[in-house]
Amino acid sequence: MLTSVWPQSLPLLAALMGLIIGSFLNVVIHRLPLMMQQQWAKECAEFSEQDAGQSAKPNAGIKAEPEAAPVLSLSQPCSRCPHCDHPIAWHENIPVVSYLFLRGQCSACSAGISLRYPLVELVTAGLFYFCVVRWGASFTALVWCGFSAAVVTLAMIDWDTTLLPDDITLPLVWGGLIAAGLQWNIDVSLGDALWGAVGGYLSLWVVYWGFKLVTGKDGMGYGDFKLFAALGAWFGWTALVPIILMASVLGALVGIGLKWSSKLREGGYLPFGPFLAIAGLTSLFFGPESILRLLGLG
Ligand SMILES: [Zn+2]
Repeated sequence: MLTSVWPQSLPLLAALMGLIIGSFLNVVIHRLPLMMQQQWAKECAEFSEQDAGQSAKPNAGIKAEPEAAPVLSLSQPCSRCPHCDHPIAWHENIPVVSYLFLRGQCSACSAGISLRYPLVELVTAGLFYFCVVRWGASFTALVWCGFSAAVVTLAMIDWDTTLLPDDITLPLVWGGLIAAGLQWNIDVSLGDALWGAVGGYLSLWVVYWGFKLVTGKDGMGYGDFKLFAALGAWFGWTALVPIILMASVLGALVGIGLKWSSKLREGGYLPFGPFLAIAGLTSLFFGPESILRLLGLG
């Protein structure tokens, strides 16, 4: 077995893998919302075209050519500097190392590169390292690495855009249920995971509609229900209360802090996903019951 031959280097190997995956997550965080917008714009255009076609010229045989904008995907086109459009070469794209080597600046125009790129890579590396230290070379470690990567991505996308893409939340729910069902997630039974997913979704759904009926406003989005359902599937229904408590307290503290420093974004809306994600990662590190102790409730 690899573990008996090379026990110390395995977590380091996982951390290295985490750096590379983290670099890919940066691309997903940046591009997935843009890809979603492109898709929505395309659907809107098709819909209005259909509408116009039906009402104005029912028998028109000619269809307008679709927009010739380049289609964005996770692999195409290659990454470029957002300031000067300089294509980023492979040696400028090595996780963390390139950032340090370039001293956080674009090699062509010297515009600053955000510190969050190496941070996402380092956080992912740290999470992968932790999973392998804790569970060794096992499916359990592998599925928790997948969970960590998805949660980091969701937190960043939600913070940037207030969106939690179904492309990540729904596989995360299914992933949690499957991991429990196959006993790759050794801490949660399938029954606990199922009730966790159902309870997570329904509880926030009830809060959402209660808030909407009383205030007429949207307190959160459907993505939050799905992310909470996913956390329920991964940690079991007993973790739902600690996770929602921690996310709410953190969200309130950050909200007050931002309001105080007048940095709250327009409309005063603060996404809830990043706080759910932090509570989820805290549960991964210390167990959900530690959150209750942290809050003085356990
Ligand atoms: Zn540049």
